[in-house]
Amino acid sequence: MEVSGMTVNLRCPLLQRYLKEPTTSYVLCQTIPRPADVFGRTILTVFVTCRTECRHSYSRVAIVDYLRRGTKQCPMPGCGQPVSLSGSQRDEELEASVRAAQRREVMATRVSVDVSDEDDEVVG
Ligand SMILES: [Zn+2]
Repeated sequence: MEVSGMTVNLRCPLLQRYLKEPTTSYVLCQTIPRPADVFGRTILTVFVTCRTECRHSYSRVAIVDYLRRGTKQCPMPGCGQPVSLSGSQRDEELEASVRAAQRREVMATRVSVDVSDEDDEVVG
């Protein structure tokens, strides 16, 4: 059912372990309000500029700490897109995937322990 396993990255690139409170960088938007007087009326025009949508995910504590150090670029190797906390949001869907993967890993470990009894180690 899982597609190749590496399509969705469930590990935090900063902590090198399973994502905890996955935070995904969606988009960095800046709203620039511009008041303009036209025929005595004030019209507020809001310009919105959005710059990135790299959708890389990190553990929340890791990205908060990372941004606090002053770097505002996506820490995913080879990405380098601008990233910010306001442009990121908690990814509950991903969080569920991580939990499922962790559960599978625990079960796989149990199975491999059971199997190891009948594991015929042929040397040479
Ligand atoms: Zn990125």
